[in-house]
Amino acid sequence: MALTFRLMKKPRVCVVGAGVIGLSTAVRIQNELPNYDVTVLADRFSPDTTSDGSGGFWQPHLVGGDNQDMVIFGMFYTTVMIHVKAYLSWLMSRFKHNNGNVIDARIDKLEDLVKEYDVIVNCTGLGARKLINDHDVTPIRGQVTRVKAPWVKLFMTYQGTHGHCENYILPGADAVVLGGTGQEGNWNTGVDDEDRKMILEGCVEMMPSLKEAEVVRHWTGLRPHRTSGVRLETERLAKGKLVVHNYGHGGAGVTLHWGCAGQVVREIRTAFTPNFSRL
Ligand SMILES: Cc1cc2nc3c(=O)[nH]c(=O)nc-3n(C[C@H](O)[C@H](O)[C@H](O)COP(=O)(O)OP(=O)(O)OC[C@H]3O[C@@H](n4cnc5c(N)ncnc54)[C@H](O)[C@@H]3O)c2cc1C
Repeated sequence: MALTFRLMKKPRVCVVGAGVIGLSTAVRIQNELPNYDVTVLADRFSPDTTSDGSGGFWQPHLVGGDNQDMVIFGMFYTTVMIHVKAYLSWLMSRFKHNNGNVIDARIDKLEDLVKEYDVIVNCTGLGARKLINDHDVTPIRGQVTRVKAPWVKLFMTYQGTHGHCENYILPGADAVVLGGTGQEGNWNTGVDDEDRKMILEGCVEMMPSLKEAEVVRHWTGLRPHRTSGVRLETERLAKGKLVVHNYGHGGAGVTLHWGCAGQVVREIRTAFTPNFSRL
């Protein structure tokens, strides 16, 4: 029997995770399922999530699965770049404005939430490895340097001469992001001096004027990579409670977040509405 008719009160949804995936999912649920009561629960919030330090560049990159395109020739294109910290702050204010609840806590298993919530949305990124024992989730360590270089107007990427370093230059609203490493299985969240050197030297080689740029910050984050691709699917827990997984976006969480959030909404709607046909 569809869950809709068994529930007399507003369905309660708990989104676990407050990175770009969790917050965008929570806001899309509020927008598209206005009769649901939505909570975001996380042990890290902006500015301390992986999403905060991301380049914010729209490009499918370092995502698992078998749909990777290899670029072996030069190309030129226009894309968008999000100031992720500002975006997260905007998402959080939207969420609170729509009466969303926020809980600062760590959970050790999703089952701890079934008493309280009808739907749990798992947006825990790399945390899913421990939380639900998914060993397909591994870090791809990314170190970047942010510099002040307002004269840079075009992005550039170059893969080649610097070991595990794929050099890229991404001009953003308040800084230019210089990258970066892609070290699979590396859990080091500290700034590595060798990597710092490779990033700066590689980017200056591509664009010599960057030698004059003032360094704002070095930063390291761990991309939540999942070898078999993003996990975006529904599972039933005890008592028929629903879990929708939305994690493992690797180096493309900012790129994929809004579409994945939309799919979570469809999964919930399908489970709660009899005869709902997928769009
Ligand atoms: C150097 C670098 C550059 C990048 N550049 C780009 C780019 O240009 N474009 C792009 O699209 N992507 C980029 N990415 C990738 C992007 O940052 C990630 O894909 C994205 O941040 C993943 O978001 P998330 O919300 O899943 O994870 P996170 O931002 O890590 O959020 C996870 C959330 O889950 C919570 N959580 C986890 N476990 C638990 C638990 N047990 N209990 C409670 N809470 C829990 C955490 O507290 C946190 O709030 C980059 C990443 C790096 C490292």
